[in-house]
Amino acid sequence: MDKKGNTKVFDTHVHLDVIDEHIPENELVLSVGYKDDVNKILPMIAGQKGIPFSVGIAPQVAMYEKFIENHSWIQNIMEIINNNKCAAIGEIGLDYKWAVTDDDKKRQLEWLTVQLKIAEAHNLPVIIHSRKAENELVDLLSSWKLDLVFHSFTGKVNTAQKIIDHGWKIGVTPLRSRDKKKVISLGIENLVVETDAPYIGKKFEDINESIERIREVTGLPTGDIIKVTFDNGIKLFKLEGRL
Ligand SMILES: [Zn+2]
Repeated sequence: MDKKGNTKVFDTHVHLDVIDEHIPENELVLSVGYKDDVNKILPMIAGQKGIPFSVGIAPQVAMYEKFIENHSWIQNIMEIINNNKCAAIGEIGLDYKWAVTDDDKKRQLEWLTVQLKIAEAHNLPVIIHSRKAENELVDLLSSWKLDLVFHSFTGKVNTAQKIIDHGWKIGVTPLRSRDKKKVISLGIENLVVETDAPYIGKKFEDINESIERIREVTGLPTGDIIKVTFDNGIKLFKLEGRL
């Protein structure tokens, strides 16, 4: 519930820089950064309107950029989190669908590591982007003291179990799969919902499809799913009393 006591759906992953649509009254969204020019506009297009946002350099962007200490992209992230109420660092991670060479992977890891350091130092939760790298990421992230969510998780149930054992969250999109059904059945307390709009869900209201994926597996009333996933998201991103 928000301050006025209204029940809302919390879509924990949208991209307001590329979606030109009115946010429905009954939805809270978090707008996720993924590259420098987007990070820089999020305080204006989201933050100033009271919409939570995150900043980060995604792996599929990072792999084309040589990493150096004090890179301007990192300086800009620092400036944004020091001057704004930033909800998280992300989306960051490893993407082995796009990384082909060892060099690509090395650069993804360098950019990921420096951003994890920032998150840990500033006590910010992390939004993890992972493709074909889930197990490696779980191992790597285990040595950090971080709250995090595996956004748009498409891995196997045994990997999901490890994520849950760490107390981390799993993001459920509108997409259907057999693996996803098993992941959802591990328990609603581990889940947040998202559209990744406009990339997976095309419109904000497609968040109802993510809710429906959970209902299909758990049989819980829609209202309960909306409430639990909302509360999970608020807790993860420390938004209590901020909305
Ligand atoms: Zn995204």
